[in-house]
Amino acid sequence: MDHFLYKNGVLHAEDVAIPDIVASVGAPFYVYSTATLTRHFQLFDDALAGMDHLVCYAMKAASNQAILQTLAKLGAGMDVVSGGEYARARAAGVPGERIVFSGVGKTRDEMRLAMTGGIRQFNVESEPEMAVLSAVATELGVKAPITIRVNPDVDAKTHAKIATGKSENKFGIPISRAREVYAQAAALPGIDVIGIDVHIGSQLSQLEPFELAYQKVAELTETLRADGHDIRRLDLGGGLGIPYTRSNEAPPLPTDYGAMVKRVLGHLNCEIEIEPGRLIAGNAGILVSQVIYVKEGEDRKFLILDAAMNDLIRPAMYDAHHDIEPVIEPQAGAERATYDVVGPVCESGDTFAKGREMAQMNAGDLVAFRSAGAYGAVMSSEYNTRPLIPEVMVNGSKFAVIRSRPSFDEIINRDTIPEWL
Ligand SMILES: *Cc1c(COP(=O)(O)O)cnc(C)c1O
Repeated sequence: MDHFLYKNGVLHAEDVAIPDIVASVGAPFYVYSTATLTRHFQLFDDALAGMDHLVCYAMKAASNQAILQTLAKLGAGMDVVSGGEYARARAAGVPGERIVFSGVGKTRDEMRLAMTGGIRQFNVESEPEMAVLSAVATELGVKAPITIRVNPDVDAKTHAKIATGKSENKFGIPISRAREVYAQAAALPGIDVIGIDVHIGSQLSQLEPFELAYQKVAELTETLRADGHDIRRLDLGGGLGIPYTRSNEAPPLPTDYGAMVKRVLGHLNCEIEIEPGRLIAGNAGILVSQVIYVKEGEDRKFLILDAAMNDLIRPAMYDAHHDIEPVIEPQAGAERATYDVVGPVCESGDTFAKGREMAQMNAGDLVAFRSAGAYGAVMSSEYNTRPLIPEVMVNGSKFAVIRSRPSFDEIINRDTIPEWL
């Protein structure tokens, strides 16, 4: 469920009409709904009620300061994957004890930043990383709290580029070697082992792969405890999928996910952490764009938009589907047409949809890409020197620009000319 609905024939974000935002900000832009963000966070938090838990929003999905603050005020922790994200989380007011640091390639600088600023735990992904972390912690005179990310070799049954829990993926250590690696961890002076971490992929449409992975984590918890490790926290990763089409079979709900977690892991009395990103932000944001031209090709029509692959790369990168809807609701029985929906960038990959049937559109009309809140704005670039598009946040009848569009001068002035030129 989200808060982008037609009211009186006009698409609204909560109580704000999209054309009102266009009039003030100009297209294209992203717009997020506070109510949807809040609802999705709350669903997860409620789903784990009764267990000691923390929902750590995977902020790589959408990391604007306003989004982070909205979630932080609800009590969210943050899952960060870089020093930059760590700094963003802290700037949004998230205390260090609610920040979890994930990622396969943490540098010494990033470790130092997190340990001096405060950290809940590092999710360690390899033995070399563990050794370096111990050394950095020892230099600082502290112990780094860690979980070790295990790779359970489970097929997440999702797109290959976002599956992370098979043995061929770069993530975590093979679960078959976990005992050995935990023994090494326990012997390191700068390391405090507190738990186990697992994350098998993104946009999962079934609970079964999660359950298989969590069963393996449950067994491992017992084994490691028998080996003398005080396993008291389980980080279960993120990855629950969202519906990208209205017709889609609905992916599992957080409630069902939470019930499964309790059933599989509840008896272990561990503190549970989860790291949802997409399910919190995905349907909490849309991308609004304007039609520049309708171009008649030889055998097809092109709908040429003012948004492009640099603004939303998911279709080009993952063949992702986004529903594209007119901002002005078509009248019943209005004419329909089939378009290739494209942007202005000089690449054939700059195609949002092929052969998409929708209401007939004209130059100047507005469209909305649904489910664009996660992995949208954060993956955008200034390719073709197209300025990063604004982000807007709505709360009831209020809206505010939460990232403004840079001017051409601002973009150009980031470059510097060497003195010899
Ligand atoms: C990307 C990622 C997540 C979030 O995945 P979603 O599919 O957006 O929920 C959580 N944890 C880790 C370690 C990740 O890399």
